[in-house]
Amino acid sequence: MTSRPLRIGVLALQGDVREHVAALTTLGVDAVTVRREPELETCDGLVLPGGESTTIGRLARQFEMLGPLRAYVAAGRPVLGTCAGMVLLADRVLDGTPAQLDGSETLGGLDVTVRRNAFGRQVDSFETTLALSGVEVAVPAVFIRAPWVESVGPQVEVLARVEADPSYGEAAGRIVAVRQGALMATSFHPEIGGDPRVHRLFVESVRARRSS
Ligand code: GLN
Repeated sequence: MTSRPLRIGVLALQGDVREHVAALTTLGVDAVTVRREPELETCDGLVLPGGESTTIGRLARQFEMLGPLRAYVAAGRPVLGTCAGMVLLADRVLDGTPAQLDGSETLGGLDVTVRRNAFGRQVDSFETTLALSGVEVAVPAVFIRAPWVESVGPQVEVLARVEADPSYGEAAGRIVAVRQGALMATSFHPEIGGDPRVHRLFVESVRARRSS
C-alpha cells in the first residue's frame, strides 16, 4: 500500500520560510506554506521558522492564528520551532516583550524557560558544530541573535548543548536543542547550511506519529 507523502507546513507570516520549505522538500515531503487555519489542519506537522518572534506573534494574533496554533500544539501534533520559533513554543520567556512575558503573543506548550537574544549579548551571530542526540555525526549550527534554554521541565529531553568550552564564555554548555513529546525546538537555524539532519529527525518523528 502506498500512502500519500507527509505534508509539513511552514508558518509563513515572517521569517526564513523558503529555506525551511527547501530543506523539507529535499527530504521528499510535501512542504507547504501556512497562513490560515484550514491550511494548518491539512498538515501532519508544522515548522515555526526563525525570524523575529515579536513580529510572528503579532501577525499570528492579527491573522487569528494564535488559537488554532495553540490548539494544534495542545492536540499533540508535531511542531518544530527554530530560533524565533523556539521562543514562540516556550512556556516561559526571559528578556521578552510584555506580550511574550505574559504569553499573550506566544504559543507555549514546551516546558522550558528561554532567554531571548541570549547569545546576542556577547556575539550576535556565530557558527559551530553540535553533537545532537539521535544524530551520529555533529551537525553545523548557525546562531543568529538566538535564544538559549535556561531551564527545562522534567518531561523535556535535551538534544544538544553548546560545547562546555570556556572560549564560549557564558554560552558554554547552554542547552540549544530540546524535545518534549511531539515538540522539538532548536536555538539555531538548521535550514541554513545545507545539512538536512535536524529536519530529517523531525520528519521521522512526524512519520512515526502518523503511522502509530
Ligand atoms: N532574536 C529573534 C527573536 O527573539 C530570533 C532571531 C532568529 O530567529 N534568528 O525573535
